[in-house]
Amino acid sequence: MNNLVIFGAPGAGKGTHATILAEKYNLYHLSTGDRLRQEVASQSALGLEIKAVMERGDLVDDDTVTRIVNKAIIEDPRGIIFDGFPRTVRQAKVLDLLLEIYHQKINCVVRIDVPRDELIRRIKDRSVTSGRKDDTDEAIIKRRLDEYENKTFPVIDYYRQNGVLLNIDASGSIEQTKARIAEAVAKHM
Ligand code: ADP
Repeated sequence: MNNLVIFGAPGAGKGTHATILAEKYNLYHLSTGDRLRQEVASQSALGLEIKAVMERGDLVDDDTVTRIVNKAIIEDPRGIIFDGFPRTVRQAKVLDLLLEIYHQKINCVVRIDVPRDELIRRIKDRSVTSGRKDDTDEAIIKRRLDEYENKTFPVIDYYRQNGVLLNIDASGSIEQTKARIAEAVAKHM
């Protein structure tokens, strides 16, 4: 079974390219951001707790996120493309353990790399259609990018050491990036 991680900063295009890859390889697209937004929309006790965290642009705590992933992993028998997870080294380690339980592993981690200025531009463009509060306010966007640089960036080294990291220049158009990803990923499927 194939399992992929799509990795990148907020606004890099993880959702877009995860959707393309999920269709191409018949994978289950698991977006932790979408799951967390569903939890908030349900107005559950947990949803109310994480709403404020997400609106500030902070990362939700590892235990909450890994619990959600743990539950979602058994919903669909196909391989999974993880979108927005792992975002900390601790989450990356939990993911390895979870996959091990099911005798699975990650084929490769597709890191899509975009310069910071371009990320801010993309998030602002997206805010017109996303309806996401955290996409509209520049201070919150910067907070999310800081969280990425401080807590998520070390995950790159974790996967580089495991030998599964693919670095993709994603500063160009969706079509250009799609072609680059397709070429790199094909060798690992
Ligand atoms: P983006 O990558 O554009 O920020 P996401 O939908 O992936 O969009 O994430 C939105 C928010 O959801 C994050 O800012 C964070 O608060 C929360 N979130 C999503 N995935 C995780 C995760 N793996 N760990 C912690 N928080 C998460």
